[in-house]
Amino acid sequence: MRRMNSAAGSFARRLLAWWDVHGRKNLPWQRARTPYRVWVAEIMLQQTQVRTVVPYFEKFVARFPDVESLARADLDEVLHLWSGLGYYARARRLHLAAGVVVRDHGGSFPAAAADIRRLPGVGRSTAAAIVAQSYGRRAAILDANVKRVLARRHRVAGAVSSSAVADELWRLAESHTPAERVADYTQAIMDLGATVCRRTRPRCADCPVRADCLAHAAGDPERYPGKAPRRKRRLERSRFFVVVDPDGACLVEQRPPGGIWGGLWSPPERAAGESVSAFLEHAGIGAGAVDEVREAGVFRHGFTHYDLDVEPVYVRLKTRPASVREGAGRWIDPADHRLGFSTVAARLVGVTTLFATSKSGA
Ligand code: SF4
Repeated sequence: MRRMNSAAGSFARRLLAWWDVHGRKNLPWQRARTPYRVWVAEIMLQQTQVRTVVPYFEKFVARFPDVESLARADLDEVLHLWSGLGYYARARRLHLAAGVVVRDHGGSFPAAAADIRRLPGVGRSTAAAIVAQSYGRRAAILDANVKRVLARRHRVAGAVSSSAVADELWRLAESHTPAERVADYTQAIMDLGATVCRRTRPRCADCPVRADCLAHAAGDPERYPGKAPRRKRRLERSRFFVVVDPDGACLVEQRPPGGIWGGLWSPPERAAGESVSAFLEHAGIGAGAVDEVREAGVFRHGFTHYDLDVEPVYVRLKTRPASVREGAGRWIDPADHRLGFSTVAARLVGVTTLFATSKSGA
């Protein structure tokens, strides 16, 4: 490695020496580090932890091994492979961006950071991670882990959502990023944030940069980075009608394209007060077709900024109606379909094939 004499160089050198011994080197996207694979991994890793992402990533790239196959895919199948990972706008934008790469770049993932940043869903840090990790060019990243390490190392006060704090952290990220071994450095600082400089109870005794970490010296690392004032969580409530025909097929509707579950499929969701008879009438299901109605216990699902109380109503039919009246309803076999389901929808229809979920947004 080229000599790095400055304090910033010393930071990178110590981090790389630590990573050589302790870093993660067998993550699936570190094998065959193509821009496409790094891009998919970086999008999945936004807001989701590595151990949750790994099985999703492996399944996703096995089905869509390159950008052309992703661009050609049906959005339903993309969302199906994303089911349970949460923050589904990421999947919609990934699919959209694959189309842009095929249309505007002839199917070759762009190499210029400016072109990468123009892709839907790609911000400055994600573009830099792709440039550094797949092309090996110097580019500074600033994901949540890196923000935490740098805010503590330099004791940068204030919430990371403030643009002044973000500007300062970007300046520090740029100054620490070395010209050599940039892919390893990028992985090293993310690993340090994920495994040593943890959000709570950082393991400072094991940290390679503790000698000049200002927050460690002051004994207050957990104060950094500062948090934005908490918004009051709101509570919503909905009824979900889980209608099952005599063969076990379940009625699902596609949700509108925007919003937290945009494009996913779900048992019909209605306002909390909607009666069973009003729902059946709307759906065009005659009362004579109903075998049994059972209201199950309410459960709460947490999103990032609010909670949803889910009221499941199970409706078993004696006969399936020839058609359902409203929405884009479709009958599916809950154990065998290629549609995108949220964790809540999967729980409602008893789909058990999902992986472990991310902590919120699922
Ligand atoms: S010394 Fe502690 S607070 Fe400072 S960077 Fe290392 S783990 Fe984080």
